[in-house]
Amino acid sequence: MNRNLTPAPSASQELGETQNRLQASQQSEQEALRQSEWLRVTLSSIGDAVICTDSDGRITFLNGVAEALTGWPADEAIGRPITDVFVIIDEQHRQVAINPTLEALREGRTVRLVNHTLLIARDGTEHPIEDSAAPIRLEGGPPLGAVLVFHDVSQRRQIEETRARLAAIVESTEDAIISKGLDGIIRTWNPAAERLFGYSASEAIGRSITCIIPPERLPEEDEILSRLVRGERIEHYETVRVTKDGRRLHISLTISPLRGADGTIIGAAKVARDITHRVESERKLAESLSRLEIAVQLSGIGFWHCDLPFAELSWDDKVREHFWLPPGSSVTIETFYERMHPDDREPTRLAIDASINGNSQFDIVYRTVDPASGAFKWIRALGGAVRDSHRKVVRFDGVTVDVSSQKQAEESLRESDRRKDDFLALLAHELRNPLAPLRAGLELLRRHASAADDHVATRDMMQRQLTHLVRLIDDLLDIARVNRNKLRLARRRLRLSEAIQHAIETVQPLVAEGQHELIVSLPDEPILLDGDLTRLAQVFANLLANSARYTPRGGCIVVSAALEGEQVVVKVSDTGIGIPAHALPTIFDMFSQVERSLESEHGGLGIGLALVKGLVEMHGGSVAAASGGRGKGSTFTVILPMAGPVASPLD
Ligand code: ADP
Repeated sequence: MNRNLTPAPSASQELGETQNRLQASQQSEQEALRQSEWLRVTLSSIGDAVICTDSDGRITFLNGVAEALTGWPADEAIGRPITDVFVIIDEQHRQVAINPTLEALREGRTVRLVNHTLLIARDGTEHPIEDSAAPIRLEGGPPLGAVLVFHDVSQRRQIEETRARLAAIVESTEDAIISKGLDGIIRTWNPAAERLFGYSASEAIGRSITCIIPPERLPEEDEILSRLVRGERIEHYETVRVTKDGRRLHISLTISPLRGADGTIIGAAKVARDITHRVESERKLAESLSRLEIAVQLSGIGFWHCDLPFAELSWDDKVREHFWLPPGSSVTIETFYERMHPDDREPTRLAIDASINGNSQFDIVYRTVDPASGAFKWIRALGGAVRDSHRKVVRFDGVTVDVSSQKQAEESLRESDRRKDDFLALLAHELRNPLAPLRAGLELLRRHASAADDHVATRDMMQRQLTHLVRLIDDLLDIARVNRNKLRLARRRLRLSEAIQHAIETVQPLVAEGQHELIVSLPDEPILLDGDLTRLAQVFANLLANSARYTPRGGCIVVSAALEGEQVVVKVSDTGIGIPAHALPTIFDMFSQVERSLESEHGGLGIGLALVKGLVEMHGGSVAAASGGRGKGSTFTVILPMAGPVASPLD
């Protein structure tokens, strides 16, 4: 009998094998447990959020970071569908986004989230996240579950945004922003630096910063560097830099040290602002200020101001000089009035009050008196109130000028004018005296002459010339009287027509001689005046005589009158030679004549219109001349006040 070669295992052998297998399985189980624990700890301790699901998408694991981000504690989350806990939307459209876990399970591949996904936590807070989900499966088998890994990107987003914003500022600012290393080599160069210094970024970067420093300022760079190395920041350092094309720029520099990650200084950031314009304006301002100062010194103008309520008076030394005070002496509002001539104090006070109340400038002249000698100066003070935003006067500001010499000049002019008037009056008086006997003599000759007298023509000529002479001298006497206020008016109530009638009678021979047409146009109702008939007749006679004289033969003269409100307006117009515009403003001045030769056929003295003006003004009226120019005729307008309501008997 054959025996099986393979020995049958003994019972003890079998037991041993079973034990071995058991041991091996226990070992691998322990190993699996160890690995799973190791994995759990790993997943729990990594910085990213981790969620695991089973193949149905139900949560089996959630680490601490995932708990924090979703707001779901693991014990509540486990067993729930992933879509309950991991709720995501698309940031732009705020639509629910496709859950990557489900997609990974469905498609059996790793799925990444699209950018800009927001995780909505359990309490509604939102976190921008990035994530990916991967299926878990045994080799070749169907997915047993999925693992989702994600993290919050808010901080990174913020950093990116800040960085982008800073970059935009650097790009768009008007200030040149440059950074350089400690070796002085330029590292960054913004567009404003390109515009300011003329180097493009590619030209500047890699070059030494000395390319924009003028040679004479190179030592500055060493100084700046040594301060930077000490960690100092340099602010608003004003200096000069040079552009690529050699122009010098005034710039204001702010330089800050740049530190590396370890805190050591690795370079500097410079912000350069072009202040050329400002420096230029400051220079011009300083120049004009110094010029102004010289001008002020030369002009002798003093500056003062006074803070209300007249508490603080501030004078410069020129004003002190104007008030007979030594330089630097203290002044108060009392000093101001004390040093003023007593007669000028009240008018000055009133002028200042009027300026405050009327919101206007004041311009006053007063005398200041030297208490020691009694001498005085004439001071002109100009100024006005300075108001705050509520229109309240807070201060007075102004200047003083010594006008003594002008005052003296004016005074001596007035004095010589007075002397001239006195002389004219005396002269006219003395000239008039011999005329009366001359006139009487001529009259006598006329009476005793026979019809056949040969001397009739000569005598008539003498008579005419004598009348002319009398008229001239009378005018002279009158103007001298008007100027010296020596003329008295014999006022009474009268009709304008009377005065005009008298005047016409006087000038009739002249009008006839010139063969002029004389038109008189007066209103029907009488116009009443309070005045001196003879003098008013003289006014109109002078005007009419001028019209007759200064109008070529055969002209037209019109006298018209009208009432305008309370005023009587009388116009004397002619079609004569006219008055050039340049002569109009001075036509009423004494001795004013329009460029005519002394031998003029009319032989006036240029007194007639001055007399007209003087007499009209004595009547409270005014006179004006108008003319279209040479050859265009003239119009003289006399305005007189109408007679008052109190009637005085007409005679
Ligand atoms: P005169 O004695 O020279 O006439 P007036 O004072 O009367 O002096 O006039 C001053 C000047 O004004 C005259 O010389 C003349 O040139 C000018 N003038 C006055 N009236 C007239 C007028 N109606 N037309 C043109 N010129 C006139």
